[in-house]
Amino acid sequence: MNNYNMTLPNYSIGEQAYQDIPRFCRKWGSRAVMIGGKTAMEKAADRIAEAAQGITLTGRLWYGGEASYENVAALQAREEVQQADMIFAVGGGKALDTCKTLADKLGKPVFTFPTIASNCACCTCVAIMYTPEGTFIEPYFFDNAPVHAFINTQLLAEAPEQFLWAGMGDTYAKFYEATISARGEQPEHFKALGLAMASMCTEPIFRFGEAAFADNKTHQPSEAFREVVLAICVSTGLVSIMLTKDHTPDYNSGLAHACFYTWTSIGIEEHHLHGEIVAFGVLVCLLYDGQKAEYARVRDFNARVGLPVRLADLDLTLADTMTQQIAGMSDVRHYPYKVDPERLQEVFAEIERG
Ligand SMILES: [Zn+2]
Repeated sequence: MNNYNMTLPNYSIGEQAYQDIPRFCRKWGSRAVMIGGKTAMEKAADRIAEAAQGITLTGRLWYGGEASYENVAALQAREEVQQADMIFAVGGGKALDTCKTLADKLGKPVFTFPTIASNCACCTCVAIMYTPEGTFIEPYFFDNAPVHAFINTQLLAEAPEQFLWAGMGDTYAKFYEATISARGEQPEHFKALGLAMASMCTEPIFRFGEAAFADNKTHQPSEAFREVVLAICVSTGLVSIMLTKDHTPDYNSGLAHACFYTWTSIGIEEHHLHGEIVAFGVLVCLLYDGQKAEYARVRDFNARVGLPVRLADLDLTLADTMTQQIAGMSDVRHYPYKVDPERLQEVFAEIERG
């Protein structure tokens, strides 16, 4: 048997989550550099600085606008970064991923402060890296998860609700794609644990999602809002760490993401968010898999919150589904069956019939 290790992120959640900063950061040193997105820093930097009692901030830096190795290198050269004992990463997925990669290169601890609840970047051991022009390059994996995520629900409730809305689709996708990918297998402990936890990526969304979305619109950090934020940021982050570890077999994706990545080639992201597109991909994934009851449940949920239920909702028609390309994507390489383009087109047609 091979040895292996597992590092998991810790987190604080609530309207006063930043009050925990001294308690969990000071043991790592007395100087931190704050790096983040522009809007994120405007909203969060002062609140973080105020709560970080006993910690000197060496600087407040913009991450550069893209999760690129070039931006990581530029930050690495900064004096404010070199002087710091730890990195405070502030913002959305790209800002957090840039800071996590920077921390890994420097061997410094990173603490995350998500300012939108659209993905699990605050709690994962991977960064999605792009070229400076914004073209996807690769996932960059590292050993250490962020030491602690400070999830301020007051701040997140003030963010535009489209982020949470799309994030819900990407979150429930995790359960369906992972359980289908792993079907019939006997995974080792950490993968089995990840699969078991994946149910926490669906149930809270269906139970609290509609209320959470409404509360986000009126900026209420309610109980329902908190449950959905936990599902998007924490449950999905933990599952992702467990399922991507050692990479093979990869249960972390499936037919819903194969649809998304295929359609990026026709510019779908110009008008639609990642999680929004994946939310439709889950319908395709479930109907192809013959899970009629779950399909009806997700479709009903999507209809209630305004996530897509038809190709037209994504500005697509039956003529531009690109089934051949979808069937060939790496996301469905480890799958219990080979995806057949013709059957896939029938699934799209059935979805369109409603
Ligand atoms: Zn996704």
